[in-house]
Amino acid sequence: MAQSTSTDTQETVEHTDWVSRYADDVIAESERRAPGKPVVVASGLSPSGPIHLGNLREVMTPHLVADEIRRRGHSVRHLISWDDYDRYRKVPNGVPGTDASWAEHIGKPLTSVPAPAGSAYPNWAEHFKAAMVAALADLGVEFDGISQTAQYTSGTYREQILHAMKHRGDIDAILDQYRTKKDTGKKPQQKNQKPVDEAELEAAEGSGAADEDDGSSGAGYYPYKPFCGECGKDLTTVTSYDDDTTELSYTCTLDGFTETVLLSEFNRGKLVWKVDWPMRWAYEGVIFEPSGVDHSSPGSSFQVGGQIVDRIFGGKQPIGPMYAFVGISGMAKMSSSKGGVPTPGDALQIMEPQILRWLYARRRPNQSFKIAFDQEIQRLYDEWDKLSGKVADGSALPADAAAHTRAVGVAGRELPRTPRPLPYRTLASVADVTAGDTEQTLRILSELDPENPVTDLVTVRPRLDKAETWITKYVPAESRTIVRTEPDTEALAALDEASRASIRLLLDGLDSHWSLDGLTHLVYGVPKVQAGFPADATPKELPAEIKGAQRTFFALLYDLLVGRDTGPRLPTLLLAVGADRVRKLLSA
Ligand SMILES: [Zn+2]
Repeated sequence: MAQSTSTDTQETVEHTDWVSRYADDVIAESERRAPGKPVVVASGLSPSGPIHLGNLREVMTPHLVADEIRRRGHSVRHLISWDDYDRYRKVPNGVPGTDASWAEHIGKPLTSVPAPAGSAYPNWAEHFKAAMVAALADLGVEFDGISQTAQYTSGTYREQILHAMKHRGDIDAILDQYRTKKDTGKKPQQKNQKPVDEAELEAAEGSGAADEDDGSSGAGYYPYKPFCGECGKDLTTVTSYDDDTTELSYTCTLDGFTETVLLSEFNRGKLVWKVDWPMRWAYEGVIFEPSGVDHSSPGSSFQVGGQIVDRIFGGKQPIGPMYAFVGISGMAKMSSSKGGVPTPGDALQIMEPQILRWLYARRRPNQSFKIAFDQEIQRLYDEWDKLSGKVADGSALPADAAAHTRAVGVAGRELPRTPRPLPYRTLASVADVTAGDTEQTLRILSELDPENPVTDLVTVRPRLDKAETWITKYVPAESRTIVRTEPDTEALAALDEASRASIRLLLDGLDSHWSLDGLTHLVYGVPKVQAGFPADATPKELPAEIKGAQRTFFALLYDLLVGRDTGPRLPTLLLAVGADRVRKLLSA
């Protein structure tokens, strides 16, 4: 990350991370465009199915910038446009409570499609919006949600629609600069979504009988599309329009329904995407709105929108960084078998909101990264705890400290945190071995540090719950730890004298070392003592071979305790198994 060379600490903290730099630009631009008005930043989400975790960047990028602006004492609005008046394009795979019969609704607005069976929500869009709204609340994201269904059907954009129709020739000319045989100006499923793979891309494109186009048809160019008065779908063609009377005629290509309406009174249709988006930039006065990297190409809706907002709606394109793709690690198997992709809610089941916020805060929008659902999450947590320690003692680098500040809270408040943040990997190991048994969990956690024991699981939650969910939902069965119920008598009988001696040293020391630190010293010390060195000898005082002896000793213990050559860190494992059972499993 680029860092300022300023020597003024305060200055450095405020201006070294990407969030601060965008905040500077956005505040300045807002003062130029709309002096004295609240700063407006925006995100757009299409609740066309479960909202993918990858799409969270669409919200987190403006959120972090808005939050910084708020921290500086400015008034700011973060709009989330719910693109719920978009057409239903396809039935997503693997959504519980749905089946192929939902395909009959393709072409209707998302708010006119029934919710999955058993849903508490009135329609498809509301169902998927709700899960995202809940996740955003946990993440501390403040926003004004705007339903495009509500906006269009109440006639809010009347003037803008009539204006666009009046200037359809100019719009057509702008779009025509970019039209190629293949490009029909289709809106991506999400304006920021990278298709998971080519197959999915094809599925998305080939789903509807007539994908949303940019408004061209044989009968001329119209940037507005009515939903059919008979079937409710958008498979309509505008056949004529009179600027003076606003009389509009359309025909449905599905059922032949024809209707003539007055656009000055009609509210059942919408501007095509490439016109809709810039119209809203002007209508809302958006100063900052990012979009996915697929929008950087010439002719993309962001680029074309810049011309349309300027030349048609008299507005300005927002500052709009392109953000890189956010991937997921450890979900490949899961997602192909379940047919689903993880949502922000799924991530929040295995990590605290602070960690998820941190992932976005510490990377510039153009840097891609992965969100870990695999073992990597343990390393991520280690890194986070280390950073928290540095922040506490004042040794963190300014940009790292800034990312930490943005992760732990928003302007004016801290997000609720785990009072006693024990290492995630320790909690995961305990959850692994105890299979979530609370009594056993409390016993083990109380023994980790006998000087300052955990006496109530409330103090280690919610981090404990996240680690438990991760172990049960995302760690494959073959990687789970299953403690032997009976000693491996055959292996014990076959041990050589050195191995027996090492186990005796361990068992003799168990009671006097029964804490996380104590057992750590004990397990590393046994091979040292066996080699004739003091248990507390430092690596400098020891021959290099001692490392090999330690590895051999650890593998032996894993084998005798859990029947594998690896497992949770040994001190944690020993505590989790309990002294009596350790003795039983290791005694020949
Ligand atoms: Zn129809």
